[in-house]
Amino acid sequence: MLKNLFAPFIAPFVFLPFCLCDDTVNDTERPAAKTAYEYFVELSKYPRCSGSEKPASDFLAAFGRAHNLDTRQDEAFNVLIGKRGSVGRENEPPIILQAHIDMVCEKDDDVDHDFERDAIVPVIDRDSDWITAEKRTTLGADDGSGVSVIMAVLAANSLSHPPIEAVFTTEEEIGMNGAERFDVSWLSGRRLLNLDMVQEGAIVVGDGHAGGPDLVVPIAVTARMKAAVIPEWPYKPDSPLRDRMVDVFREYYGEEPMLAGLQHAAVECAVFASKMPDADMASIGPDIVDIHTPNERMRLSSYNRVYGYLVKLLERL
Ligand SMILES: [Zn+2]
Repeated sequence: MLKNLFAPFIAPFVFLPFCLCDDTVNDTERPAAKTAYEYFVELSKYPRCSGSEKPASDFLAAFGRAHNLDTRQDEAFNVLIGKRGSVGRENEPPIILQAHIDMVCEKDDDVDHDFERDAIVPVIDRDSDWITAEKRTTLGADDGSGVSVIMAVLAANSLSHPPIEAVFTTEEEIGMNGAERFDVSWLSGRRLLNLDMVQEGAIVVGDGHAGGPDLVVPIAVTARMKAAVIPEWPYKPDSPLRDRMVDVFREYYGEEPMLAGLQHAAVECAVFASKMPDADMASIGPDIVDIHTPNERMRLSSYNRVYGYLVKLLERL
């Protein structure tokens, strides 16, 4: 795996400047924006086990191009989609929104499901407020939740936001290989919001090893993830992004967030922190339980609130 991590990576189109411009967009040609949950359902149709994300990666690249957004896909099948700032906010510093495409593919022994071919069908139990996969498989809310809320933001035409650099990575679950191979010189943003957390109300601001509070997230870490060498994500005492997120959280939820340092788990902020030490980062997500197991489920109301919070945050950044 380490060999993979440091494999030479030649970025295609390396001489083309990446521009956050979609001036050529004719809105009548752009596909209609869908809800975040509709994108979640759509993404679930595409195979995306770690190491086999090409179909889902191609889907995201096609989505970006269909919306006339500047879209790049690299050799690791990471996808970068840029969207310029909303009217009047074009020259603000960009925000990087980041989530991973791949999912842990687990199913009960007696379930007939081919992850390389079959769609995952999310099912909402409105009484219980939980979304599960139709069959006893992982749902892929980790991290389809993050990918889909970012898609909804990219597709929307009426939101107020700074320029957005959306980074969708591969092979997170087996060692964050996509993030390792991603060429950060493609990014001009220096604040990054990762959407791969599994507890609403928590704003994760570091890995808990270098100051800051601790949060133990109950994650069944895969053996391959355990073997991976994950860099540190140091807590930054000074973080304008975190301060703004706390303000907006109070306003949106009417309560205090739980500022958390992540322990016994890791998000790709660790890799981005090692490559962009000056970046200001945080991680959030909806309530998702029993991730990496066929029992994985996501709370629908929580997912919708996190999308609402993201929209509000983008407005106030
Ligand atoms: Zn994840």
